[in-house]
Amino acid sequence: MDIDNKEQELKKTEQAESEDNSYEDVCFVCHRPESKAGKMIHLTKDISICPECMQRTMDMMNNGNVDYSKMDFSRMPNISMINLSDLQNLIPKRQKVKKKAPENQEAPKKSLDVRSIPAPHKIKESLDEYVVGQEKAKKVISVAVYNHYKRVMAGAEADGIEIEKSNMLMIGPTGSGKTYLVKTLARLLDVPLAIADATSLTEAGYIGDDIESVLSKLLTAADNDVEKAERGIVFIDEIDKIAKKKNTNQRDVSGESVQQGMLKLLEGAEVEVPVGANSKNAMVPLETINTKNILFICGGAFPDLEDIIKERLNKQSSIGFRADLKDKYDHDKNLIRQVTVEDIRNFGMIPEFIGRLPVIFTLDALSEDMMVQILKEPKNAILKQYQKLLALDEVKLNFAEDALRAIARKAMEKDTGARALRAIIEDFMLDIMYEIPKDDNIGQVTITRDYIERRGGPLITMRGVPALEMQG
Ligand code: ADP
Repeated sequence: MDIDNKEQELKKTEQAESEDNSYEDVCFVCHRPESKAGKMIHLTKDISICPECMQRTMDMMNNGNVDYSKMDFSRMPNISMINLSDLQNLIPKRQKVKKKAPENQEAPKKSLDVRSIPAPHKIKESLDEYVVGQEKAKKVISVAVYNHYKRVMAGAEADGIEIEKSNMLMIGPTGSGKTYLVKTLARLLDVPLAIADATSLTEAGYIGDDIESVLSKLLTAADNDVEKAERGIVFIDEIDKIAKKKNTNQRDVSGESVQQGMLKLLEGAEVEVPVGANSKNAMVPLETINTKNILFICGGAFPDLEDIIKERLNKQSSIGFRADLKDKYDHDKNLIRQVTVEDIRNFGMIPEFIGRLPVIFTLDALSEDMMVQILKEPKNAILKQYQKLLALDEVKLNFAEDALRAIARKAMEKDTGARALRAIIEDFMLDIMYEIPKDDNIGQVTITRDYIERRGGPLITMRGVPALEMQG
């Protein structure tokens, strides 16, 4: 039944694509789209071949000087004439890609235009609704994104003045909101986003994902619309893991050379990308994506970077005051804010790579107060989600303030930032979500500190009766 539905869906999409002239045919042999390979020759409804491949096939047959018309294939063992309709089962179903608008067309249809890009303070205001704290980071990212899209819309070389690309490097501990910030941003701006992990990237030809595979993900996120993908955002996480390895004579396939391999992408290059898969050898069409206007944001926790900063600061201030200043920076929680390009280079990022990420900013480690805020304040805060779930059962869910503090404290112990919050809450909410629907008379549940610290149960209020404690 499910499969039938899917088939029908697929048929509908295919029909819509063939009626929609913003899609074009792709050559069955070389996978180039019609706009590149020339007018297609249709062998069947779904199989088309470009003139060049058709010619090559003819040449091959002619050069062999074989007169196929005189051969009777049916008498030969294991050989029979190919029935084109059988071939249809072998090819991927979707043989169309979205057309790319001609490059020098005056004003291509844009979903974003300079006037519609919100001003930086508006972008920040929207980010404030979701991301707690990280004021500096939100401000920097809002300005950088605003400038980036202005640059995209104005054309990079308006008046001969080339506005530099504002690719970014974001440094902050695990779970401090790096990915969340980028995701929120992409959603607010309504641009496609691809997230990749730097550790999975390798130089082309080695085991792992090719660097270009990130663009394949972006194209998928843009519904295979090349133009849309070319204005998207690529977030590469764990960028610190591809730092240059110290003291090694071996070829560094996952470190320095991946950084080298990314230089072209970060700056702007034409890259052939498979549509709908991340391997070039699959039977999929290829599309060319220009990365000139794609915003690259790299993020990482950069452990040990603080030591490098501390060492530099200590060296700078050592003249004359060595004894009293030695541990001056040891307890500075926000030492990371003082990072310089030189520190990042000492960490192992190559200068050319850092040079292509001109906007560098840091995120603070989350404090207990921030954790409590994260629990209850963002537009889609976890507590609000649970409250909504229970409200559907007409049950009011409350959290005592000291219960939230207790949850935040537990999360702080885990050292994974706000990531720990959800896991902790889920653990406590499981019993509640299991027990409450059993009894229609329950009108209100209050999560207390005692419940979080496993010294008691939550407070249950029956409809029209005083509160009582649920037996844990
Ligand atoms: P990382 O910095 O490791 O990329 P994430 O962005 O993945 O961390 O954070 C994990 C989760 O924690 C997010 O999905 C989000 O729900 C929450 N979170 C982290 N930081 C914040 C923050 N500053 N404000 C609101 N939620 C946050």
